[in-house]
Amino acid sequence: MLHFDTVIIGAGLLGLGVAQRLSREGRRVLVVEARERPAQVTSSRNSGVLHAAIYYPQGSLKARLCLRGNVSLGQWCADHDVGMRRVGKLIVATAPEEEGALERLLTQGRANGVPGFEAVDGAFVKRLEPEVRASAALWSPSTGIIDVHALAQSLSEVAVDQGATLALRHRFVGGARVDHGYRLRLIDPQAEVIELECREVVNAAGLHADTVAETFELDVDALGYRQHWVKGRYFRVNAPGRVKHLVYPVPLPGLAGLGVHVTVGLTGEVKLGPDVEVLGQRVEDYGVPEAAAESFYAGAVRYLPWLTRELLAPDQAGIRPKLSQPGQPARDFVIAEESARGLPGLITLAGMESPGLTATLEIADEVHALLA
Ligand SMILES: Cc1cc2nc3c(=O)[nH]c(=O)nc-3n(C[C@H](O)[C@H](O)[C@H](O)COP(=O)(O)OP(=O)(O)OC[C@H]3O[C@@H](n4cnc5c(N)ncnc54)[C@H](O)[C@@H]3O)c2cc1C
Repeated sequence: MLHFDTVIIGAGLLGLGVAQRLSREGRRVLVVEARERPAQVTSSRNSGVLHAAIYYPQGSLKARLCLRGNVSLGQWCADHDVGMRRVGKLIVATAPEEEGALERLLTQGRANGVPGFEAVDGAFVKRLEPEVRASAALWSPSTGIIDVHALAQSLSEVAVDQGATLALRHRFVGGARVDHGYRLRLIDPQAEVIELECREVVNAAGLHADTVAETFELDVDALGYRQHWVKGRYFRVNAPGRVKHLVYPVPLPGLAGLGVHVTVGLTGEVKLGPDVEVLGQRVEDYGVPEAAAESFYAGAVRYLPWLTRELLAPDQAGIRPKLSQPGQPARDFVIAEESARGLPGLITLAGMESPGLTATLEIADEVHALLA
């Protein structure tokens, strides 16, 4: 029987982040990943934005870990040669009736401690983005963009250099508490069942974190760990370089996302999205139909007056593991150690939607502290 100190289920950014943190101090760490390569699911299907912590309630994990993560992940990128640029973000109002929402966001962002976050006028926006229409805006200079593939690669390399083992094409299928730890069952690439034992388990299974938690007999509905899948689709704007900063509209009340916004890539590509599509079924369908262009066009033309439907082409999609149902208030991240449920040393990460990428290293530190 194989023995490890810690088994991490899932090699997305969060599993890899936790692996580099826990292996730093000599723990024997195994990361099991069902896919052929790390970070192929939500971790490579996002906007790649290093968020500043503007929108989240003061004191929430999202606000605190995002604020700190903006700094620590920025430093990680500099230290490990991962592409990152603080391009800055504008949140634009296109009509006077939207300006009240800007004020509320400014108060929220400042309460969260977002550095340099300020109100600016239409002339400021014109200087920065001559092709964006806005009557007023907020400017966040610490918001950036990251090469997420290079980030995943760097986390995985550091973890492996420190002695962690990465088992790709190994699917976790069951776990149970045994004396002093856990016995886990995996299916290997030859479809054989492997059993192994460990002292600690970190459930970083992303979209499947709730069903993985159920295999340990956690009552995910009672605990509030049930995840609802909400797809976010993107369209490419065939006008590279025409917008150079991240540009977001004022979020509309009750909207589960931030509104159709502009994300820019490190090589100048311009995208719109993600939108918000609640999935009735748990199917990893990442298709983006041509017909969806209409709503992207309508959402963005208010602040990109030169936009035409012909400039839009379907791009990627990702799926958010949300803890709240449509219409319910947004929920915070769940980062839980399960001793109180008779499962010491089991960590659940649930609801790891945005700003999970930004908070990667901070979530890893939280997990490390919970296991200390
Ligand atoms: C549309 C969208 C846009 C986003 N934009 C941003 C952004 O701009 N900035 C930001 O900070 N955050 C953003 N996020 C959030 C961010 O992408 C996530 O928080 C982060 O990627 C979550 O990483 P993860 O490791 O939890 O999940 P994943 O990347 O999904 O990793 C989980 C891994 O677990 C594996 N797995 C699952 N079940 C098993 C099993 N039984 N056995 C073995 N392996 C298993 C999967 O194969 C997968 O590789 C966005 C998310 C979405 C959906």
